[in-house]
Amino acid sequence: MDTDCECIVIGAGVVGLAIAAKLAAAGRDVLVLEGEAHFGTITSARNSEVIHAGIYYPAGSLKARLCVEGRDALYRYCADHQIEHAQCGKLIVATSTSQLEQLESIQQRALVNGVSDIRLLAAEEAMSMEPQLKCLGALHSPSTGIIDTHGLMLSLLGEGERFGAALATHSPVASMSHDVASGVYTVNVVGENAMSLTTRHVINAAGHGACALAAPLLASTSQAKVTPVLSKGNYFRLSGKAPFSRLIYPVPEQGGLGVHITIDLGGQARFGPDVEPVNEENYSVDPARSAGFYAAVREYWPGLPDDSLAPDYAGIRPKIEVDGELYTDFMIQSPADHGMPGLINLFGVESPGLTACLAIADDVHRLMPD
Ligand SMILES: Cc1cc2nc3c(=O)[nH]c(=O)nc-3n(C[C@H](O)[C@H](O)[C@H](O)COP(=O)(O)OP(=O)(O)OC[C@H]3O[C@@H](n4cnc5c(N)ncnc54)[C@H](O)[C@@H]3O)c2cc1C
Repeated sequence: MDTDCECIVIGAGVVGLAIAAKLAAAGRDVLVLEGEAHFGTITSARNSEVIHAGIYYPAGSLKARLCVEGRDALYRYCADHQIEHAQCGKLIVATSTSQLEQLESIQQRALVNGVSDIRLLAAEEAMSMEPQLKCLGALHSPSTGIIDTHGLMLSLLGEGERFGAALATHSPVASMSHDVASGVYTVNVVGENAMSLTTRHVINAAGHGACALAAPLLASTSQAKVTPVLSKGNYFRLSGKAPFSRLIYPVPEQGGLGVHITIDLGGQARFGPDVEPVNEENYSVDPARSAGFYAAVREYWPGLPDDSLAPDYAGIRPKIEVDGELYTDFMIQSPADHGMPGLINLFGVESPGLTACLAIADDVHRLMPD
């Protein structure tokens, strides 16, 4: 049976666009369906824009492997495609003696993950690198950097289109069905572009929408139930000049990396993201949360002036639970997992998903039959 296209990618965030570019370059016929009016306006537009080195993730996890592979691929891609980026490095700082021990275990984990350039610094060395910093010791990660995410997405879209992929915006997918006999999926788009499309390959890269889209298809399989968990991260921007030339992170906190300072490519400093559990997508930033930011940041930058922080933006981490238990790794579900030929689901692609996007695309490509 003929289908409307060979592969449908649902979601034009950085991950969906990287997958579309990879598949199109490999000769696949690809259509990307995006519910919003533009590509990359949800989580891919609401993050720290950091190219992570691959330090924190449990050994053997997808995050650990895909972050290191993705980081290297991303630096190469940025150089080859003139994407604005800077390998500025970062310091993870300890401000108490118990945190000094944590630095050592973070370094061990990083080394196991293949992050071989990470180095433990005495307080004096760290504070001489960043004179406004106060700490008892630090880890220096030279391979951490920052990137223009929108520029990256624009380039990935261009790459995909160069090889024949197409993007349809204003095209929210409301449902999908699978005909077992023919192996064909029907993908139903609602709204102004309402249509039903047939395909043999669906890559569900819908971020916050991925679990809901996949659930009816997975209901007939023995797969454990994957449900979304939303964890908001708020940012505050600093008025005035950035006090540091590197990114400064505290030791990680439960559910996030701690309120860190990132510097964008324009030299503007911002703090965040914090961790705020939420039940629905809401991207407003409550100014009252600034109190927690002043306290957290002054632990390592006592010179933070009063009244210098203003609410900026928020992103929501697309975390997941499996059978009611928090699942902390990426989940790339293929036919080997759920038994449905042609369906790949991407769940829980929170940080470091931006860093890992090209490596995720490689994995998805490898999981697809010739
Ligand atoms: C606060 C925060 C900070 C982060 N910082 C970093 C960082 O510094 N470095 C890093 O590597 N990673 C970071 N991340 C993670 C990174 O942003 C994500 O992993 C990445 O953006 C995920 O991309 P995506 O394409 O999977 O999702 P998205 O960008 O959310 O894209 C999914 C797309 O699917 C579309 N969609 C949803 N449902 C449907 C539907 N039914 N039909 C059609 N389209 C649909 C959406 O509109 C959206 O455009 C951070 C995340 C957060 C929340």
